Amino acid sequence: MIIHLPKNISRACVQEYADKLGALCMEKPDYFVLISNHTVKNVPAELQEIAIGHWSFATDMQLSSREYYPNTHRVAIGDTYIGGDGKNQLMIAGPCAVESREQIEQSCQMLKEQGIRVLRAGCYKPRTSPYTFRGLGEDGLKLLAEMREKYGLLIATEMRDATHADKVVEYADIVQVGAKAMYDHGLLTAAGQSGKPVILKRGFGSTLQELVNCADFIMSCGNEQVILCERGIRSFETNTRFTLDLCGVAWLKEHCNLPIILDPSHAMGYAYGIADLARACTAMGVDGLLIETHPCPECAQSDAAQQLNHRQFAEMYASLQPIAAAVGKTLV
Ligand code: PEP
Ligand code: MN
Repeated sequence: MIIHLPKNISRACVQEYADKLGALCMEKPDYFVLISNHTVKNVPAELQEIAIGHWSFATDMQLSSREYYPNTHRVAIGDTYIGGDGKNQLMIAGPCAVESREQIEQSCQMLKEQGIRVLRAGCYKPRTSPYTFRGLGEDGLKLLAEMREKYGLLIATEMRDATHADKVVEYADIVQVGAKAMYDHGLLTAAGQSGKPVILKRGFGSTLQELVNCADFIMSCGNEQVILCERGIRSFETNTRFTLDLCGVAWLKEHCNLPIILDPSHAMGYAYGIADLARACTAMGVDGLLIETHPCPECAQSDAAQQLNHRQFAEMYASLQPIAAAVGKTLV
């Protein structure tokens, strides 16, 4: 249950109510927010007179639920935004990982030519095998910071674990919590306290309910700038890397108040399917796409098979324009 209390009560007094209820307490400019788990269905007697609003829920999807906040949260992305009136579709693109100055510089040049604002590239890669490239770490973050200066791009990059969460928060404009890290509560807290937009990727074995619960974790730390990312779930199918869950996206659009982006690259796992999927996602009116593209995909040190080369990326991007316009979206 979420209860709003007025600001004329002292913070200490609100904390006492929260403790009695076993609730979290957040302070907003105009009111306090108490959040207890969804099994609490009624406002306690002592708060009935003073509560200025209350909502009960069927599950612990609370802060991220449209029952609580019926609109979509607007998330600022540099000089633009996603969510809010839902008019924009953001392109987040770049290689899987930062590999070298030359590689990331070529990526930035292509993004600039295409008019794209957000560069994505990982420096701490969560790999399936310990014998594969795990990213350049802080050296990679420094390269990304240089590229931001030189090309004016925003940087989206991921936290793999708590050992470098503060570093990623320091360098990133948008913090990514990866699919394998979705349940890492240390990372969810760091993302919640970062004050930056957060891309929360759905774990490939996670239900929608588990995803939105993790979004609530971040939001309950006071950060409402959460962007959900569907990146494919594991099904019985093995010919594609994962299965892009578009039904799940429809469910999220109906029930969750956060912008949603899709990552066809990790879902498909092969470059040949990405453009079709990107067009399908655009037709669904999603808030953004995350696409892996590399100046030389066959040389890539991670996710080589799924990265588009720059020509493929430009063709795919151009083909999205009329579809976006048909569903009332502007590509940003
Ligand atoms: C990535 O975005 O490069 C990545 C590792 O994705 P995921 O966490 O979805 O596997
Ligand atoms: Mn990748």
